[in-house]
Amino acid sequence: MRLILLGPPGAGKGTQAARLVAKYGIVQLSTGDMLRAAVSAGTPLGVQAKEIMNRGDLVPDRLVIDLIDQRIDAPDAAPGFILDGFPRTVAQAEALDALLEKKNMRLDAVVELVIDESELLSRVENRVRETLRAGGAARADDNPESLKIRLEAYRKQTAPVSAYYACKGALKQVDGMEPIETVGQAIDRAIAA
Ligand code: ADP
Repeated sequence: MRLILLGPPGAGKGTQAARLVAKYGIVQLSTGDMLRAAVSAGTPLGVQAKEIMNRGDLVPDRLVIDLIDQRIDAPDAAPGFILDGFPRTVAQAEALDALLEKKNMRLDAVVELVIDESELLSRVENRVRETLRAGGAARADDNPESLKIRLEAYRKQTAPVSAYYACKGALKQVDGMEPIETVGQAIDRAIAA
């Protein structure tokens, strides 16, 4: 099973990905998580990405394409994967098509979580409050200034990715405003269809 989950920051991609991982025995490949790990480890990639991410902008396409290209060859990704946070630009989507073809792999579904934009800020604020309450540290980009830039990047660079897959007839849209369970069921139906 190979899936892509699309949706703006705060749409619930991480929550739904965790459920799909358990259900299908596949791995979640989140470019955001991979980049944050590189930043924490202080690798050359992390050093390059840190300021861009903190600001809320997208890192250069080539960096994340290379990350994904290598990551989907790992043995744990052989049963399948769910891409979360990638592709985030049309250039990334095109590169993904090319590398899947090269690897002889096919996507099973592209699912977009559709959310009212007015809801997103409060969702991210909630996530920050819950993380702090649990004794964790908030993400460096979960602040109002960076979130504004992340939403702009989403509108300008990532929204066209939905159109890219819609044109190919591959896009399934799911109402992300419903309760977590209901969204999960809608995703299951979209995948089965
Ligand atoms: P969000 O909660 O905003 O969806 P992510 O955890 O997916 O955040 O990503 C955090 C940041 O990592 C992004 O704002 C961006 O700087 C960088 N990033 C993650 N994935 C990509 C990607 N596919 N292309 C470019 N930048 C990315």
